[in-house]
Amino acid sequence: MLEKMAAAGMDIVRLNMSHGDHESAAQVIKSIKTLNRKIDFPIAILMDTQGPEIRTGDLVKELELKNGAVISITIRDSVNVEETSFHIHYDDLIETVKVGDRITVDNGIINLEVLEKHSDGLMSCRVIDGGILKSKRHVNLPGIRVNLPAITKKDRADILFAIEHELDFIALSFVREAADVRELRALMGDKAGKMKIIAKIEDQSGVNNLEEIIAEADGIMVARGDLGVEINVAELPNVQRRIARLCAEQGKRVIVATHLLESMIENPIPTRAEVTDVANAIYEEVDAVMLSGETTVGKYPVRCVEQLVAIASATEKTQGLEFTRNLICRDDKQHLALTAVNLAESLGAMGIIVITRRGYMADYITNCHPQNTRIYAFTNDSQTRRRLMLNRNLSPFRTAFSSDPEKTLQTTFNVLKKRAGLTAGDKVVVISDVLAGSGIDAIQIRTLP
Ligand code: PGA
Ligand code: MN
Repeated sequence: MLEKMAAAGMDIVRLNMSHGDHESAAQVIKSIKTLNRKIDFPIAILMDTQGPEIRTGDLVKELELKNGAVISITIRDSVNVEETSFHIHYDDLIETVKVGDRITVDNGIINLEVLEKHSDGLMSCRVIDGGILKSKRHVNLPGIRVNLPAITKKDRADILFAIEHELDFIALSFVREAADVRELRALMGDKAGKMKIIAKIEDQSGVNNLEEIIAEADGIMVARGDLGVEINVAELPNVQRRIARLCAEQGKRVIVATHLLESMIENPIPTRAEVTDVANAIYEEVDAVMLSGETTVGKYPVRCVEQLVAIASATEKTQGLEFTRNLICRDDKQHLALTAVNLAESLGAMGIIVITRRGYMADYITNCHPQNTRIYAFTNDSQTRRRLMLNRNLSPFRTAFSSDPEKTLQTTFNVLKKRAGLTAGDKVVVISDVLAGSGIDAIQIRTLP
């Protein structure tokens, strides 16, 4: 299935550590590494931490919660769970909620209102929106700051596992402030340069501290599943737009996640609203659109990937879009990249060739959101190549660097003719942070031989 999804256009695989263990993750990693040896562009791997997430306990059998019923919730495993009560695994639950607060279960499907708090780790709630409760459902306490560490013990073990396997991205769940990202960077140590950090914005605190979080992270995930219950769902489109714009301005990557093709879990075709939602994310200039349930429990994983590719390709063809280029240029290299992009566009160049070791120059070019011209990045480092799969409008290649820069360039021309459909006579703009020796940047206009 992974192979089929790769062939359909999947660029990155997410390991969601809320499910599965190291053994099952290792299996996926192994499959991807094997697959990467035979496919044209590698699949990158993103590990998504569970984070400070709250879940309901195990149930012997499903519990039907009827509208208007009063039920009790316990945080103590020892308390006898009867027909009308269930566990929520969060020790500080009763201290943190107030009478009248809302508790949301199973991504907003079941809603409860706190009626009364008792002293013995119990409280009673009224069922506002009922439903069938199953084991280990996700719990949200909208607007309440959960008193759990940003990186839990389990997350720490998972992150060390990701480092050990040289994964490409870590997505940190429920990032509430920039310090959470700094904590992850400190934990990753010298590996932090290569493994990129995606901060997931999932609640009001994350939204409140957006600017500082974006400044600290390498990219952002608009985690619409949790965001949609943690904040007023009507504000979600505004927040998505704001995140996309701020990331464009700050030169960071953006992933839009959850419910993109939700109806395709069951159906072979998406709803019109879903198609429009995906297209809107593309118009907002995000780097990636992400599938969740569609490709885990859904009936049509491959069709979902094909559908995303089809929508993205159709949308990207739209003429006359105004792209965001009002970057906050923080350094000279960003200015240089902007010059290369402007040059490529005014020339009508077929591509921008970026020769880069760690991918920094490729990021600077990506940040300029070039229009009508593709970015071709060449690196001599496999991990850099994989993580560049996230960058919008960029094809990464691996090539050895020659001590003679001209030789390296000729190699890139050959690769583009063989693998990217470019032909002799095509104009390209070349930019490099390695080409002309250490520290000397160069921009060239070249015609493919
Ligand atoms: P999750 O994150 O799928 O790990 O919960 C994404 C989201 O909340 O949308
Ligand atoms: Mn989430």
